[in-house]
Amino acid sequence: MKLHEYQSKAIFSKYGIPIPKGRVASSAIEARQIAEELGGRVVVKSQVLVGGRGKAGGIRLAKTPKEAEEIATLVLGMEIKGLPVRKVLVDEAANIEQEIYLGITNDRAARRPVIMASSAGGVEIEEVARMTPEKIIKVHIDPLLGLRDFQSRDIAAGIDLPRENWKEFAKISIGLWNAYAENDATLAEINPLVITKDKHLVAVDGKMIIDENALFRQAVLAEMRDLDEEDGSETEARKYGLNFIKLDGQIGCMVNGAGLAMTTMDIVKLFHGEPANFLDIGGGANSDKVAAALRIILSERNVKVILINIFGGITRCDEVARGILLALDEVKPKIPMVVRLVGTNAEEGIRLLADAKMITAITLTDAAKKAVKAAQKNQEK
Ligand code: GDP
Ligand code: MN
Repeated sequence: MKLHEYQSKAIFSKYGIPIPKGRVASSAIEARQIAEELGGRVVVKSQVLVGGRGKAGGIRLAKTPKEAEEIATLVLGMEIKGLPVRKVLVDEAANIEQEIYLGITNDRAARRPVIMASSAGGVEIEEVARMTPEKIIKVHIDPLLGLRDFQSRDIAAGIDLPRENWKEFAKISIGLWNAYAENDATLAEINPLVITKDKHLVAVDGKMIIDENALFRQAVLAEMRDLDEEDGSETEARKYGLNFIKLDGQIGCMVNGAGLAMTTMDIVKLFHGEPANFLDIGGGANSDKVAAALRIILSERNVKVILINIFGGITRCDEVARGILLALDEVKPKIPMVVRLVGTNAEEGIRLLADAKMITAITLTDAAKKAVKAAQKNQEK
């Protein structure tokens, strides 16, 4: 789950990281009032959950409160990379001497968190990694020990940070580590961390991504979720307790159980098909849930066939089949559907669905082959 810049910076501030004074506004009038309170120059910043807002014209400096109001009017009407701007952050403008990158994420290959820094801040770090990888300093963090003082000094030296800023830098990097660890983040990033003209460090931008699997114990963060800014189908799926991840293939999969869903995707790929999603509808899914799942799968235009693979254990297959039929009444898909049911009352379930003109299969291999074939046929049309 991504947090907005203003949310991330508020968290950073709690961990002792200096941030500019400022507040978030949802109207131009409010933006003007904040600019008046702050006095002097301000920066008006669109709050959308994408990077590169600066380049897209979503970050602008204003010299007067009136100008802040004008810019806010403009920015609040904008869309950035397809996302509508509903809020702006009005911050005291920083006098920038140099922009630094500082971020922490998980290095899966190393099986531990890594802190990265670069003297080439401000631009997207992916860009720096591609063009000038030698400008990125990386230090792995032992999750049990946390970021140590000596490590933060190593990084400061590695990016040629002026000596006079090392103490501040240690405080900021250790603060960033604590923010990362205590909030179950998968990313905590300051880009740019700025050296101001009067030689202090300030976090001008902030970005955090929180591990969704940890939200159950991060109630305060869970509250910060901004549904307006997230992928529609994944949000919809969450509402129904469906475990859904969008992919870009043609075969929409509806499966009960995460392991079975993974297996289904593997077998689809084995026969040269591409899954359109991962979807685990969970145990004991009723027809409401099945209908929601079908609706979500069908809302993706690239889906050419639906593959249903259900293992009936406690839930009986005939009940699942009736659920699917009820859902079909509501959703009415126009693409082929392949079903494989196995387990309690499978024969009865299969018979019900075959009557409804669905393609049925006994084994998963058979089902996957039929789905791939149907997808190819439907693609050619
Ligand atoms: P992003 O483009 O979405 O990463 O948004 P940022 O908050 O990083 O802003 C983009 C760029 O705008 C920064 O790299 C700075 O160069 C510039 N910028 C942002 N805030 C200020 C500010 O307070 N003063 C000045 N002079 N420039 C700023
Ligand atoms: Mn930035």
